[in-house]
Amino acid sequence: MQVRVLGSAAGGGFPQWNCGCDNCRAARSGEAGVLPRTQESVAISADSETWFLLNVSPEVRAQIESFPGLHPRAARHSPIAGLVLTNGDLDHCLGLLSLRESHPLDLYATPSVERGFREGNVLYRTLQRFDGQVTFRPLSLRRSSALLKRDGTPSGLTLTAVPVPGKLPIHLERLSTPSAEDNIGLLISEPARGITLGYFPAVAGPSAPLAEAIAQCACFFLDGTFWSSDELREGGLGDKRAEDMAHWPIGGARGSLAFLREHASCRRILIHVNNTNPILRPRSDEAAQLSAAGVELAFDGMELEL
Ligand SMILES: [Zn+2]
Repeated sequence: MQVRVLGSAAGGGFPQWNCGCDNCRAARSGEAGVLPRTQESVAISADSETWFLLNVSPEVRAQIESFPGLHPRAARHSPIAGLVLTNGDLDHCLGLLSLRESHPLDLYATPSVERGFREGNVLYRTLQRFDGQVTFRPLSLRRSSALLKRDGTPSGLTLTAVPVPGKLPIHLERLSTPSAEDNIGLLISEPARGITLGYFPAVAGPSAPLAEAIAQCACFFLDGTFWSSDELREGGLGDKRAEDMAHWPIGGARGSLAFLREHASCRRILIHVNNTNPILRPRSDEAAQLSAAGVELAFDGMELEL
C-alpha cells in the first residue's frame, strides 16, 4: 500500500491566514524545521495507479498538483477513483466543490456525513449537473467495503468505518441530531497482503472501538490537533478548550501520548495538527517527548510504503 500525506495541518492550515502566534510567525519567517502545512488529506493506493483521497481539503487543487501520482494520464483523466470523508467538517469536505469540472466522483461517507454536506447546500448543485456526477457509496459502521476503481472493479483496498468520539461540524450544530455516524476513523486494508492502515484524524478521546481498531494496524494516523486542553486560551487565541472542539489533547496524564506509548509495536503518526501546537517546533520539549516515545509527526509530502 502506498500512502502520501497531501496535507498535515488542522483546519486553517499552517501558518493560518489570520494568526500571528509564535508558531505561525516562525513558519512565515522560515525558521529551521518549522514547515508550512496544508490542511489534512492523505492519498492511498494499492498499485500506484488508482488513488483514493482520505478527506478533501479546501486546498485539494494545490495538493493534487504537489504529487505527480495524482496527475492526469490523458487529456481528460484523473487517477483519483474515490474520495472518502471521515466527518463533515469544512476542512474535510469543502474541496469537493473544487472538483466540479464535469468529472464523475465516487464519494465514500456515512449517510449522515453525506446528507450534512448535500442537504440545504445550494452550492452542491454544481456537483449535480449530469447523471452520475457523484456516486455516493455509503459506509456502514463496522462493515468492510471494497474501494472500487473507476470501472467498478476492486482496487485491492477495503475500507471499514470505525465510530470514534467526535461531534457534528460547527455549521450543523443545533440543526442536526448527533449520531455515531458523524465522526469516524478508517481501517484501510490490503487483504492480499494482510496489511491494515488506521486513519483517525479527529478523535475526541479514548474509546473501546478505537483501541480494538488500532490493535489490527501495522501503522496508524491519530488526531494531533492540540498538545493541551487550554492551548487556545493560554495563547489568547480563543476561548474553546480542545475538548469543546472534540479533539483529544496529546499531553497530560490522560493525553493521547500515554495511549500511544502503549502501542509501540505500530508505526504511530500524528496528523491534523493545529497551528498553535508546540510539536510544530522541532526544538520544543513537546516535540522531544514525541521523539522519545517513537511517535512521528506527519508532514506534507510524507510517503509511506506498507
Ligand atoms: Zn498560529
